[in-house]
Amino acid sequence: MNGKAKILTVRFLGYLGGFLLFYAPASLVQRLLISVFHLPGNADIHAVCSRVALTNLASGKGISVISIVGIVFALVFLSAFFLGPLFCGKLCPAGAFPEYLSRLIPEKFQVKLQSALNPAPVRYGMLAGFLIAPVMGYSVVCAYCNYTMFSRLTLSVLSLDVGILTSTNVITIFFWLIVLGAFTKGGRGYCSYICPVGAAQSLLHFLGAKFRFTYKLAFDPHRCVSCGLCAKECPTLALAVKDDGQLSYQRISCLSCGQCIQLCPKKALVYKNGADGWRRAAGDEKLLQPQPILNESASS
Ligand code: SF4
Ligand code: SF4
Ligand code: SF4
Repeated sequence: MNGKAKILTVRFLGYLGGFLLFYAPASLVQRLLISVFHLPGNADIHAVCSRVALTNLASGKGISVISIVGIVFALVFLSAFFLGPLFCGKLCPAGAFPEYLSRLIPEKFQVKLQSALNPAPVRYGMLAGFLIAPVMGYSVVCAYCNYTMFSRLTLSVLSLDVGILTSTNVITIFFWLIVLGAFTKGGRGYCSYICPVGAAQSLLHFLGAKFRFTYKLAFDPHRCVSCGLCAKECPTLALAVKDDGQLSYQRISCLSCGQCIQLCPKKALVYKNGADGWRRAAGDEKLLQPQPILNESASS
């Protein structure tokens, strides 16, 4: 198995773990919380859905911290602030499924969507709409939810019954898996433009990364040889090698999947706390004054 296949396999095991932890029929997290803390709730994805929690917060209903969704919500969003959006990068099978599908499609048939259309305004416009809708009396929680679609899809496969998919489900699946998935470079179009949970985590990470005590993707420009390997494989196109050879990075688009770190032949990228080595200008984190930020142990 070559290095890239090994990285993808290890990542796949993380997403499989995420599936077993959060999705029926296993739903290990929900079952654990129900049995240990005697909390009310079901052993399905809705019991831990951060979208429901975000909607309840926005509509003033609030959420109980001592509940399945309250505990998971706190863990996911606190970890995003201190450690980056690890739920997205390491565990979420609904985000990873279209990414892995996209690897089956030749690149010449795919669109580099995030290069053509800046994700941030769309993504945060969607998040704002998502949060405002319940205040206006509307609910958009499940209408375009890829968590629900992933759950229905897997239950359909496991029960060999496609009858539980509605026509609306089929349309959402088409955009999530095909248009924004398989035929989008990196397969993470849904993550980059639509998903409110990912948008909220990325925003927290963007803010958290300004503090030295938080963990983040750091860069040592003195090691980088501008080979572009990291950028070529980044599923959200958060990394790019500019015409002048400098590596640019959009932290707000990063999933903290760690793939670029493992692929870099020069160990120029690392996940650590402290200084990040990137410089920021006009929303684009550009390298202006390179400074070495890695210690000697990273050079071995
Ligand atoms: S952005 Fe949403 S769908 Fe994508 S990985 Fe994160 S939580 Fe999952
Ligand atoms: S893979 Fe490493 S050396 Fe190559 S461009 Fe990325 S950071 Fe630089
Ligand atoms: S920049 Fe690196 S860690 Fe972030 S999404 Fe891209 S490959 Fe993953």
